[in-house]
Amino acid sequence: GGGSKRKEEGKNIQVAVRCRPFNTSERKCGSHGVVDCDQNRKEVSVRTGGVGDKSARKTYTFDMVFGPPSKQIDVYRSVVYPILDEVMMGYNCTIFAYGQTGTGKTFTMEGERSPDEFTWEEDPLAGIIPRTLHQIFEKLTANGSEFSVKVSLLEIYNEELFDLLSSADMSERLQLYDDPRNKRGVIVKGLEEITVHNKNEVYQILQRGTAKRKTACTLMNSYSSRSHSVFTITVHMKEITTEGEELVKIGKLNLVDLAGSENVGRSGAVDKRAREAGNINQSLLTLGRVIKSLVERGPHVPYRESKLTRILQDSLGGHTRTSIIATVSPASINLEETLSTLDYANRAK
Ligand code: ADP
Ligand code: MG
Repeated sequence: GGGSKRKEEGKNIQVAVRCRPFNTSERKCGSHGVVDCDQNRKEVSVRTGGVGDKSARKTYTFDMVFGPPSKQIDVYRSVVYPILDEVMMGYNCTIFAYGQTGTGKTFTMEGERSPDEFTWEEDPLAGIIPRTLHQIFEKLTANGSEFSVKVSLLEIYNEELFDLLSSADMSERLQLYDDPRNKRGVIVKGLEEITVHNKNEVYQILQRGTAKRKTACTLMNSYSSRSHSVFTITVHMKEITTEGEELVKIGKLNLVDLAGSENVGRSGAVDKRAREAGNINQSLLTLGRVIKSLVERGPHVPYRESKLTRILQDSLGGHTRTSIIATVSPASINLEETLSTLDYANRAK
């Protein structure tokens, strides 16, 4: 009826699930497969049955489902294409990777390099970030108008902000301020926004971030699993209207590799002894609450309660599009975390 149509129109959060293939350690310990993905029915079915009830299953339906054989290009085409169109029209959009450490968040967002002689942009293992930048240049160059592309890479660890593209060392933390000129905006003081002139520069810039992240990992306990990484692409596009007026459209895309979901207890309780982990919970827990209140159209969206949600405030809710890619392991050994991830993703639909 009319109600469901309105719901479809207002659906600006999409949820996808990606299940990676078995890895060697899961095979070695004799873990068995408990996750079945049906890409066509968009269903993920998990065998939850233990000793007593071997047939027990929990089945979820999502907007998209990618099974273990799925390729980077499949995820890119289905998830990123439609979002990129919105960005080019001047909207702010966000894609999150959410899931247990080791399930493929970074593989999905950044990707990897094949041992073969592929250029980075043709590498089948390239993830969403390089593919997106590459395609933005293709699209903008093809349409012939003036444009500029800027990128930044901000990481949040323990509710502190780090600039992964600046030449300053990791002891420098950035401050967050409300933007006096923009009700929904914040200013990350000193965050470097690097202009990318052509697609060949992209890879160098990404490598700069990777090198600095390596240092961070040696300085901070479990940095890679506890930090949130926010890669932002801002596109300025100049257009001449049919009336001959100049029109500048600004679109923004945030590509977010979240801290491992195992950092959020199922109860949501914050352990005082684990203040560090508790602080990470802050951004991950608040993100869950923000998404919940956007989905339920609640009166108050608690953006202000964490650094991550403050930073993303102008790109979540309102005229924006958001995709969440929830990543899971196929193995019985990770069953509890898999169910926890799927429950979280299910609440965001
Ligand atoms: P996370 O960022 O969630 O901790 P990673 O992206 O680092 O996880 O992935 C962990 C390991 O699993 C990596 O060695 C990666 O190559 C592999 N992996 C993850 N997802 C896939 C996939 N879809 N296909 C093949 N290998 C994958
Ligand atoms: Mg990772």
